[in-house]
Amino acid sequence: MTSITPTRLSDGRELIYFDAHEDSAARHRDPAASRDTRGLPPRGPAGTARFDALSGEWVAVAAHRQSRTHLPPADQCPLCPTTPANLSEIPATDYEVVVFENRFSSFGPDLGALPETPGWGTTATASGRCEVVAFDSAHEGSFGSLSPERARTVIDAWAHRTEALSAMPGIKQVFCFENRGADIGVTLLHPHGQIYAYPFIPPRAATLAARAAAFFDASGGRQTLMGHALAAERSSGDRMVIEGKHFSAFVPFAARWPVEVHLVPHRQVADLAGLSDEERNELTTVYLELLGRLDAPYPTPTPYIAAWQQAPIDDELRPASYLHLQLTSPRRAADKLKFLAGSEAAMGAFINDTTPESVADALRRATPTENVSGVPARKDHP
Ligand SMILES: [Zn+2]
Repeated sequence: MTSITPTRLSDGRELIYFDAHEDSAARHRDPAASRDTRGLPPRGPAGTARFDALSGEWVAVAAHRQSRTHLPPADQCPLCPTTPANLSEIPATDYEVVVFENRFSSFGPDLGALPETPGWGTTATASGRCEVVAFDSAHEGSFGSLSPERARTVIDAWAHRTEALSAMPGIKQVFCFENRGADIGVTLLHPHGQIYAYPFIPPRAATLAARAAAFFDASGGRQTLMGHALAAERSSGDRMVIEGKHFSAFVPFAARWPVEVHLVPHRQVADLAGLSDEERNELTTVYLELLGRLDAPYPTPTPYIAAWQQAPIDDELRPASYLHLQLTSPRRAADKLKFLAGSEAAMGAFINDTTPESVADALRRATPTENVSGVPARKDHP
């Protein structure tokens, strides 16, 4: 059972402790022990969102993000617990999992809907919310190096935030994700993920949702597109990586990246908040095993983007939507990364130099690495 303790940072941002252990939760409930003494100045206004009439897509203009922290040394890490020498973003001497509003936010802090019929030259407040999820108080690692217990608490935090953010005014999509590796733009080494709550449905989510809705409607509301894909993958087995009781992981038929895996629940659920306790338990072990397999073939950690595709906050699209994780890596070899070149970056047309079947075969054969980040694996709360 995860205890949830909300508080505020000195500039008014919300911070929430998620604890599996009652002694830890009790410390966080004590206002004196977790007070932010930094006296931060008030937050600036939200940035703007511009409508690109040529593509129909919104673009957030967040020039203030240029000043954000970039790969700070461990003794100045903003995600480590606070010490007298490092008054970090987390005003506690220790923690399990913490979520807080990003100080360098692309969306928010204002909330509200974007104009319904944007056109040429439409500019609006970039409303919404961006949150940071600190996975563990230890400075090094990533999701894959968490103990199962800690990973399970992160899943509860994602589920809680998905439900809470989905209920906020103007939010259309909640996106939980983790970027791993400086090669793909990570600016903090401390194990963490992010949650974006957008005031619009982002382009790729919109494409997936529209395809899912068309399939669902054509089947008279009896079949989901992802359910159909999952059944086909489980029956053929050619691209399967892990098959559990409640979750399966497979390389998609038309994978775009050198490494791409979809982790899919066997039951249709709209988002992480819809998963049962039993499903969350299995997700913990299956996801940790999958990340271990991803690292196994190489001497260094594989950079990746782990992206949760959840149902948009939209009554028409939601019934057809199906929660799943899209795990992608640009790694082509131990020391080679795929860069998005002309065809991919300019046209959105991917060319994959590997076959999905050979990637699935390699991931199936791999012996999962417990942890390659140099910190003790499977670290549990003392
Ligand atoms: Zn740190």
